[in-house]
Amino acid sequence: MNTTSINENHQPRRHMRLWEGVIGAALLALVAIGLGGCASRYDQSPDTMMIEQAFFTCSKCGSLRGGVFGKGPTKRFQAATASRCVHDWQQVSKGEFQALASERFGVDWSKEIPYWSGQAVTR
Ligand SMILES: [Zn+2]
Repeated sequence: MNTTSINENHQPRRHMRLWEGVIGAALLALVAIGLGGCASRYDQSPDTMMIEQAFFTCSKCGSLRGGVFGKGPTKRFQAATASRCVHDWQQVSKGEFQALASERFGVDWSKEIPYWSGQAVTR
């Protein structure tokens, strides 16, 4: 009897496929990061990581952002050049923020909610 049993425990090339998947995913991630990075470089919000009352003005374009970040209320006023500005946010007081908004953007704070119109107790 001719017993040439071919008993190859043939392992499919799994590891190759895995690598292709990993490389593909890595490339996609890089592209996503690249696109996101480019898109978000301009017109960035001030770096406030947690709920925090803070007020900022950009020393370059004059945009304003302030309020209670992460919770609200917040206000943002965009200068004409804001979308092309890599903002340089300077922290200011609420009073300065409101004065700048009135001066630059013609804001009438008395028409706003109590938080802004000065009737609310804020620290
Ligand atoms: Zn700016």
